Amino acid sequence: MTSRFRRDIGIDLGTANTLVHLAGRGIIIREPSVVAINKDTREVLAVGEEAKRMLGRTPASIVATRPLRDGVIADYDQTLAMIRDFVKRSKRGFSLHTTVVVGIPSGVTEVERDAVLDACRKSGAHTAYVIEEPMAAAIGAGLPIAEPVGSMIVDIGGGTTEVAVISLAGIVHSRSIRTAGDEIDEAISAYIRRAYNLFIGERTAEQVKLDIGSAYPLEEERSMVVKGRDLISGLPRSAEITSVEIRDAISEPIYEIVEAVKLTLEATPPELAADCMNHGIVIAGGGALIRGLDELLSRETGMPVHIAPDPLSCVAIGTGRMLDMLNENPAIRRMLENASRG
Ligand code: ADP
Ligand code: MG
Repeated sequence: MTSRFRRDIGIDLGTANTLVHLAGRGIIIREPSVVAINKDTREVLAVGEEAKRMLGRTPASIVATRPLRDGVIADYDQTLAMIRDFVKRSKRGFSLHTTVVVGIPSGVTEVERDAVLDACRKSGAHTAYVIEEPMAAAIGAGLPIAEPVGSMIVDIGGGTTEVAVISLAGIVHSRSIRTAGDEIDEAISAYIRRAYNLFIGERTAEQVKLDIGSAYPLEEERSMVVKGRDLISGLPRSAEITSVEIRDAISEPIYEIVEAVKLTLEATPPELAADCMNHGIVIAGGGALIRGLDELLSRETGMPVHIAPDPLSCVAIGTGRMLDMLNENPAIRRMLENASRG
């Protein structure tokens, strides 16, 4: 139930993107998990979209960083500043009671988790919970998490890939690796440097991935022109690259993701693995959109693979659904309380 006296805020604290879901409104914030800081004083100057915009348009003493880049909190103060900013922006106006659920990478330590909860409370949340991101993703993807049936979710974000088998509102088995979208981008720039003596930036590498990246042969292979800086002359230069080359260049991180899924399946009790076989594996996160990854995973595991509806929003939608169910469903309440307790 939503009223003007209650404000339920679900947050997906991702390594690449932070999303905020507000009950009754849907997703109201979708911004990069970036903070702009003063290099000399470490002071946080801006958060999210604004931080990204400041880049290149400000004195060199201002730099942008991603405090959660590898799925762990690299810088406390920056992460907390980010959470405070997002909660405050979502909370604006009068409300008697604000409950926040934050989906966090499962590699986050207990101490860090408590700091996240503390930051939520200090920003005006009356009640705060954290939940492991694969659980939120599974709920957001509409998987029957509370039933005695095994479901497998694979969430491929920027910094981490999280694989989990869920049953009866608990994570039966999970695995988190620091190979995801960022590593794929790095593999692309390393290849272009090696093969063409061309240096390209992070943004360009990501663009190559979005435009022609793939994990499985395409019906029609593609090509594109990339612009970079010649490693020898230092001058701008371009090169034409193909989807076949890029697929080969990113095969290592892609296979690490496939391997993580296989290892998780191997460690799953047989009945639950059989459920996963029947219902298929659901992939979420921005990485789920890599062309042909579903096909490759399906071929490698022998299981049906489905891309979650709206894979980039799954976790945020899941935190929103949890807030909806919090009061009516004791299993959900217990799950949140357990995940948020020391
Ligand atoms: P996180 O949860 O870690 O913040 P996201 O789920 O938001 O991460 O996904 C971000 C990653 O997904 C980035 O590496 C981005 O390049 C990648 N990504 C987004 N859209 C696509 C797409 N269409 N194809 C391939 N990768 C994508
Ligand atoms: Mg995520």
